[in-house]
Amino acid sequence: LLTARGLRKSFGSNEVLRGIDLTLHRGEVVVLIGPSGSGKTTVLRSLNGLETPDAGRISVDGGPEIDFATRPSPKERFALRDRSAMVFQHHNLFPHFTVLENVIEGPWRVQGRPKEEVVVEARALLERVGLSDKADARPHQLSGGQQQRVGIVRALALKPDLLLFDEPTSALDPELVGDVLVVIKELADEGWTMAVVTHELSFAREAADHVLFMDGGVVVEQGTPEQVFTAPQHERTQRFLTRIL
Ligand code: ATP
Repeated sequence: LLTARGLRKSFGSNEVLRGIDLTLHRGEVVVLIGPSGSGKTTVLRSLNGLETPDAGRISVDGGPEIDFATRPSPKERFALRDRSAMVFQHHNLFPHFTVLENVIEGPWRVQGRPKEEVVVEARALLERVGLSDKADARPHQLSGGQQQRVGIVRALALKPDLLLFDEPTSALDPELVGDVLVVIKELADEGWTMAVVTHELSFAREAADHVLFMDGGVVVEQGTPEQVFTAPQHERTQRFLTRIL
């Protein structure tokens, strides 16, 4: 579904991505793990055009290949962004909108789909994540876990080919993490294609088809969860796993 090759990105003298390759097959769940600052978030942001790499190529099935070495046009970047939807660490909901308004904003106002149709879909999605009674509430009236589930519904409402999760549970109180992970796991089981940056290694082990361990802007090691977690080959992976487990 998506192929990224040789992604490079520097912020000033800070070389954050030093040649990242990543492939996402349809229906596959790829989890990115690694120490803070290793570039995981920058990879995700590059995949949906929020960040522009200095070099490298990204192609999504059915779309043109984007070559970042030749400074892609805004049109090319928007084409990339349209294919995916991102769930952020902080849900970024509009505080003055109701939950339902937050969910329909993208498909209705941005994608220009008929409002009635979008509302019906939004209500069904909210019901799915156990929030149908919160449609008319404002974000601040919800718990952090509920807000994050709205963030997920908002992404789903865009009907993207690809879901990107950037540490979706790391801003949550520990007791709220489980509910959000359950929703993401269900989506994975349903066959959504997704890339997830997370520090929740037990989730990664259960949900991932493929795990990438990043450090210092490169993919140090990758494989099935079994390979990466049970028998890591690289000393840096081993050190990271012992520190975090
Ligand atoms: P974390 O787990 O802490 O989120 P990460 O692996 O996701 O880390 P990134 O967020 O991709 O890492 O950041 C990698 C490096 O890039 C960091 O040193 C960060 O300070 C730097 N960086 C990221 N975005 C910017 C930016 N917009 N401007 C300047 N530096 C940035």
